[in-house]
Amino acid sequence: MKKQTKAIHTHFQLRDAYNALSMPVYHTAAYEFENATEMADTFCWRKYMPDYSRVMNPTVMFLEDKVKELTGAKDVIAFSSGMAAISNTLICIAQAGRNIVSSRHLFGNSYSLITSTLKRFGVTPKLCDLTDTKAVEQLVDENTCCIFLEIITNPQMEVADLRALSKIAKAKGIPLIADTTLIPFTQFDGRALGIDIEVVSSTKYLSGGATSIGGLTIDYGNCDGFGTRMRREILLNLGAYMTPHVAYMHTIGLETLDARYRLQSANALSLAQRLSKQKAVKHVNYIGLPDNPYHQLARSQFGDTAGAMITIDLADKEACFRFINRLKLIRRATNLFDNKTLAIHPASTIFGPFTDEERRSMDVHDTTIRLSIGLEDVDDIFDDIIQALE
Ligand SMILES: *Cc1c(COP(=O)(O)O)cnc(C)c1O
Repeated sequence: MKKQTKAIHTHFQLRDAYNALSMPVYHTAAYEFENATEMADTFCWRKYMPDYSRVMNPTVMFLEDKVKELTGAKDVIAFSSGMAAISNTLICIAQAGRNIVSSRHLFGNSYSLITSTLKRFGVTPKLCDLTDTKAVEQLVDENTCCIFLEIITNPQMEVADLRALSKIAKAKGIPLIADTTLIPFTQFDGRALGIDIEVVSSTKYLSGGATSIGGLTIDYGNCDGFGTRMRREILLNLGAYMTPHVAYMHTIGLETLDARYRLQSANALSLAQRLSKQKAVKHVNYIGLPDNPYHQLARSQFGDTAGAMITIDLADKEACFRFINRLKLIRRATNLFDNKTLAIHPASTIFGPFTDEERRSMDVHDTTIRLSIGLEDVDDIFDDIIQALE
């Protein structure tokens, strides 16, 4: 079966008592057992059945199974947010005295997790330009526990060479962990590119209508002991498992992901091309444009679509604020890959709490507006941008 068919037709692990066609939402904390032996077997992982919804729930397992089918992963764990997937994964891999090699170009909370939270527990951040393979090779040492990156950085739109980073990671015997939120995992083969563990904010493309917050850790099984520790220690002790209601909504989202993504990325490409010709727009950053420095590399890694996030640069911060205030159709909001087109000024919002110097080191500029392109008719989105620019 092709991926889109699997997204629709993956079956429940156990048949529903009423043959419900849609996965029932199992709103239950606990599960009853036939006898003491069955209970003991389940609690000690000899039997794969849910015992308590902090670690297993049939509705959440159904979403995990679908993602497993679509990615070919060994295991998938669903979390209460993208940040929970990232923090649980890094806590599972890291320990005091070791370091994480990553970039300054990171989602704001991932940056803060690595440079503040984990640092307080003795894990050292080692940040460099991950597009500079030589620099990465020099930075990785015997205490490095992983290389962590985002496949397209936000809002810089930088793309690192995953195959080259995977070679370095493999030579050192450490995992390459990639946040793949910016391109759906249905569009490319993360494992073939050498990613060992993917982390995803399912809040974004998967949920579709921006219904709810969730995250996924997709484990290809290359990292010795990782899967077992995640399921038997981290998930239990940190308690950040996805709730069944969110799993239900993200499963519905997953079924229409391919259709939505194709339209959103086509809308984004069309707008990027048209906005490149506008005088008030100083620069359009979109890896789908052939003159983008990462265009060829991105194509070789992620195929012929480039996602639905575009950034545009205007004259200065005031011009950006004026533009945002004049928007009529496009919504002023922070999410990505909502069905609705959204606009935000990253420097004053997501990266607002950082100092000027930190923002400079992250290449987050006052002149940049981030657009997440939705499912509206592309002409209506374009018209709104044009009237707001005038
Ligand atoms: C949104 C986002 C996150 C965080 O996900 P939440 O679901 O909001 O916790 C992490 N990484 C990237 C690239 C994101 O866009």
